[in-house]
Amino acid sequence: MKYNEFEIISNFFNKYQKKEKNLIKGIGDDSALIKIPKNNILAISTDTLVEGTHFFQNIDPKNLAYKTIAVNLSDLAAMGALPKWVILSITMPKIDATWLKCFSNNFFRILNQYKITLIGGDTNCGPLSITLSVYGLIQGKKQLLRQNAKEGDLIYITGSLGDSAAGFFLLQRKKYFINIKIRNYLIQKHLNPIPRISEGIIIKNFANAAIDISDGLVSDLGHILEKSKCGANIDLNKLPISNYLINNFKKNNYFDWALYFGEDYELCFTVSKKNINKLNLAIKKRLIQCKHIGYITSKEKGFNLIKNNKKINFKKTGFNHFN
Ligand code: ADP
Ligand code: MG
Repeated sequence: MKYNEFEIISNFFNKYQKKEKNLIKGIGDDSALIKIPKNNILAISTDTLVEGTHFFQNIDPKNLAYKTIAVNLSDLAAMGALPKWVILSITMPKIDATWLKCFSNNFFRILNQYKITLIGGDTNCGPLSITLSVYGLIQGKKQLLRQNAKEGDLIYITGSLGDSAAGFFLLQRKKYFINIKIRNYLIQKHLNPIPRISEGIIIKNFANAAIDISDGLVSDLGHILEKSKCGANIDLNKLPISNYLINNFKKNNYFDWALYFGEDYELCFTVSKKNINKLNLAIKKRLIQCKHIGYITSKEKGFNLIKNNKKINFKKTGFNHFN
């Protein structure tokens, strides 16, 4: 069957989803209408994935659907927002019903799992590219901004760093040298990173600043430091590196991945000393798993990586699309 634009929308994207109470009008009009609940802030973000830049041409549409959602939800997580609605703009070179079915089935499966509603979009013909805009709610007035880190804050990372990079490199190799279970685990960490939504909402109450790690710790923590006009000391020996990496890869590789590769989608956040007990309580209740990696210092002291009490030389740039 050949589909036109409207048939694509009605067959693959205008699917039944459970009614959400703040949504006045979803797909099907000139714009969607949403009622923002009292005492909430609306958080909005968007990300584009382009074939050849963000994913390989032969990517499984299931994985593409996952990644599109995960990278966007991760941005909301870093603001302590609960994701509620999304807008999907999809540009495709041709209409491939099998591909679309696979993409859309997984797309809705994930949205429903997070109780997120697709409220609109745009459908075009051209080189494959997907833009998702996400809308979330932040309860109360507290805001988790990059600019709010303070000298003396402790710096934390959720989960672990570098697994996604390892997964990426394992995916590119036909032959592999490690246990298949570990290989699959690392590949999953690359293809299906879990956005730290609940963690973001928890830390919002007591953290000063946060960012999600999409471009590597050096680059992303660098954004916090720049916006907050601060420096930082990071202890390399404290970086959260999984045993899978420690036991199967070279030290140089996994430190490099943790610092520069990115795509871990973990949260990096800062907490002042007076709020550490609140964080420790959340850790104790198993609401969050995170590791202390260093301190925020004054801007004059700069950004330092420290190993065995010595500063080490390192490059200050992470991934950059125009490099
Ligand atoms: P308009 O011409 O007014 O922009 P469109 O024909 O592009 O309207 O879209 C019609 C409706 O379908 C709108 O509500 C739009 O948000 C929605 N829509 C279009 N493409 C998609 C898509 N890929 N996913 C979800 N909704 C879509
Ligand atoms: Mg349109």
